[in-house]
Amino acid sequence: MAASMVTSSSSDSDENGQKSHQKSKSLQRKWCYMHITSIRHEEMQDFTRTRWNSYRDSLRRWLELKGECRDVAENYKHCVDLEFESIPEDAAFHPTSYCRFIDKTAMAKMERRIFLFPKGHLQKAAELKDDHSILMHIKDKDCVAIEVQYHKSCYQQYTKFLSKPARPEKEQNEPMFDVSYNLFCERIIRQRLLVNQEVLKMDQLRKTFIELVKSSEGLDASNYRQDTLKKRLTCDFPQLVFHTPAKRNICELVFAETVDGNTCGHATFSIRSRNHTV
Ligand SMILES: [Zn+2]
Repeated sequence: MAASMVTSSSSDSDENGQKSHQKSKSLQRKWCYMHITSIRHEEMQDFTRTRWNSYRDSLRRWLELKGECRDVAENYKHCVDLEFESIPEDAAFHPTSYCRFIDKTAMAKMERRIFLFPKGHLQKAAELKDDHSILMHIKDKDCVAIEVQYHKSCYQQYTKFLSKPARPEKEQNEPMFDVSYNLFCERIIRQRLLVNQEVLKMDQLRKTFIELVKSSEGLDASNYRQDTLKKRLTCDFPQLVFHTPAKRNICELVFAETVDGNTCGHATFSIRSRNHTV
């Protein structure tokens, strides 16, 4: 097919650089390659090299996102790999559409939103951790609307336990002392670690557990292993942090993760009102 349309300027100088008269000739055959809004009487423009490349960059970015621009991008994704030299003959744009399509702020905003999509996870994690500081902000609300923001790594850290198996594999032939365990969780874990925010040593926890089994069930739990207890607690209380100090002679410490950050680099979240920017 004969190319009736020739983008006359092959120079890179764009920005209004081509208000060519001969353009009108081919106008009827042109398409806005990023038409988003209904533009009434806006003249279409030809791509320059620079604009074509920005367009392709934006295409690439929008394809990872959602929304109206993404839908548009979907229709033109074949253009991502097209160099300016092989630009489709009918490619053009409305300046208004162009502005919206390459709007980096809009993309960034959408990128942030995308990140909020696994709200279900966040809420579930917060519920399991009984984390009211998070829950009060997100429960039954649209996370996008309140702009919950977080670092990717923090989010992963915070919700990591959800992807772990629900229960540690049952230890073979090992008595679980469920009655005492529940008591232990109530008195020690909930009351001291979560409510009082105490920091306790892991071996101390085990000792307390063994004593509790003795006093409440009259049984001997002295063979109950520390790592069994730890596994069980990790599973039932995802908000607990097990911290092994660098010094070898200091026992593993157990405390509750706090949302406003702590020195160990655990989850930190910030929940901001709508007008804040990252
Ligand atoms: Zn348009």
